[in-house]
Amino acid sequence: ASVSGSTSTDSDRTPVRVDSQDSQVSDTETITDGHRWPRQNSVCIIFLSLSMREWDIPYDELQIGDEIGAGRFGKVYRGYWHGDVAIKVLNMEYVNDEKTLEQFKMEVSTFRKTRHENLVLFMGACMKPPRLAIVTSLSKGNTLYTLIHLRKDKFNMNKTTIVAQQIAQGMGYLHAKGILHKDLKTKNIFLENGKVVITDFGLFSVTKLCHGNRKGDSLGIPPGWLCYLAPELVRSLHAHQAHNEDLPFGKASDVYAFGTVWYELLCGEWPFKGQPPEAIIWQVGKGMKQPLANLQASRDVKDILMLCWSFHAKDRPDFIRLLNILDKLPKKRLARSPSHPIHLSRSAES
Ligand code: ADP
Ligand code: MG
Repeated sequence: ASVSGSTSTDSDRTPVRVDSQDSQVSDTETITDGHRWPRQNSVCIIFLSLSMREWDIPYDELQIGDEIGAGRFGKVYRGYWHGDVAIKVLNMEYVNDEKTLEQFKMEVSTFRKTRHENLVLFMGACMKPPRLAIVTSLSKGNTLYTLIHLRKDKFNMNKTTIVAQQIAQGMGYLHAKGILHKDLKTKNIFLENGKVVITDFGLFSVTKLCHGNRKGDSLGIPPGWLCYLAPELVRSLHAHQAHNEDLPFGKASDVYAFGTVWYELLCGEWPFKGQPPEAIIWQVGKGMKQPLANLQASRDVKDILMLCWSFHAKDRPDFIRLLNILDKLPKKRLARSPSHPIHLSRSAES
């Protein structure tokens, strides 16, 4: 059946007008108001390709500058395309089949649905092999990783709370849009003049494929990644990696990762610092947590960690609730000595 490509909006569910001379309906489609809607995957891919044309940037239009760094995805370059941009060029060594290419396109399609001030601005992508790249706004600030772990900046409680609130705002927006980040970590959070900008959401499958799963350590786990993984992910890590299947990510696994970011902001280091991956996997998989006895913080601050790191995904709060909790944390007044109000019991919060 021929379809006219009248996809003017950016919705994945954009209907395609049915040509008058060809109104035959296949058993995979529904006709509503003269529009043909897809019911099955293959047709969805056609829709996806049509709606993605407007985001396709011809590689030749990009001016590629200095390399900023390399990650699991491939290399990231400073560049110019109607202004300063960051260009993530996919490592083609690992994109050698149609399935991976489709996965890349699907992941790009999640990017383009996002408009929030705490999320990096997606500008487009180069989607013609062998040139695959993602173009976003260039973050001029530092990542939280650089600030916390390299520059050893100390974040006071007020700043920690403000940063966490912005992360929770951006993440709450993503979840409301049905998008999982899957790779929330301080390396993917920029701080620009006090404003949080989250990057690399929804790109995990591509990064995983690019990494080839076998660098880092014996389990193919990149250093600094493990402590963001919720118990349900850690527990399925081994079996799933072998088959290159998807890990059981969910909104709650993003919340777990947020908990780790909260810990890094508070302590200036990662949980389970210095421990070998096998020891971390064993502990997290069994429901053990980084002890907080040495953490100088009020009970309600520690409670956020305990909630986010809950062993069962269902016990972790969503970002709306976290925003609520963060909003209730006492704001330190400069004129008075700090006082910790009575801890809010969990039952009183819910
Ligand atoms: P990772 O997130 O593991 O550091 P990436 O491939 O995402 O790996 O990033 C590689 C490098 O590029 C990092 O130094 C990162 O800070 C930098 N980078 C990524 N995206 C941007 C961006 N939008 N603006 C500026 N720098 C960026
Ligand atoms: Mg990144």
